[in-house]
Amino acid sequence: MPYCVHCGVELDATAAFCPLCHTKVLDLSQLPDPAAAQPFPTQRGEVAPVAKQELALLITAMLACVAACCGILNLFLRPDRGWSLYVIGAAVMLWLWIVPPLLARGMHLLLRLLVDVVAVGLYIYLISVDLDGKAWFWGLAAPIILWGGAVLLLLGLVLRVYRRSVITTLTILIGSLGVFLFGVEYLIDHWLCAAWEPSWSLVVLTICVGLVIPLIIVRRIPSLREEARKRFHL
Ligand SMILES: [Zn+2]
Repeated sequence: MPYCVHCGVELDATAAFCPLCHTKVLDLSQLPDPAAAQPFPTQRGEVAPVAKQELALLITAMLACVAACCGILNLFLRPDRGWSLYVIGAAVMLWLWIVPPLLARGMHLLLRLLVDVVAVGLYIYLISVDLDGKAWFWGLAAPIILWGGAVLLLLGLVLRVYRRSVITTLTILIGSLGVFLFGVEYLIDHWLCAAWEPSWSLVVLTICVGLVIPLIIVRRIPSLREEARKRFHL
């Protein structure tokens, strides 16, 4: 087996050059044989992309199968309680989350969010019907889902415009989390005692503001931004 005279790496018998340092192989006793089989493939292989329609079909089949199996099992196991409705509802929700975006390429953000929010709303509505909890659904769950949808929509629109760096995205994400939880506590307080006394969400919001301020400072000052990029590999 020949070795590179420059870097010492072991060479293949067919190598005319060292693959590491490109030093020419000059071993008169072992001249390279260009006709011999190369140690590497000469053609570049490509992995075939997964067809989205096939993936959508597979996911649909899997979810439908789980829902159908649980529905049939429910006929024999505790038929007085419609427990399989929870599984079927979850399968429908997952389907609405995953399959339409797979099939409709370039689905509008607003439409996608609307489908997702409606899916969550429908599932929680199903649970509220089973638990006889229409009051808490309309009084608490529905407003929180709508609020979450509104924050997500705003987040999506803002990130589309300001998606320049990891620091900006992180700043916007932390800020919206604080605002979302602040609104959630308002809705809970309003539902429970018809009065607003912010407590835990104020703590969360303060922490979020405390995280957002240094991030904004880092983003604004170029030297700090470069330093952060280098240190955290952004
Ligand atoms: Zn070499």
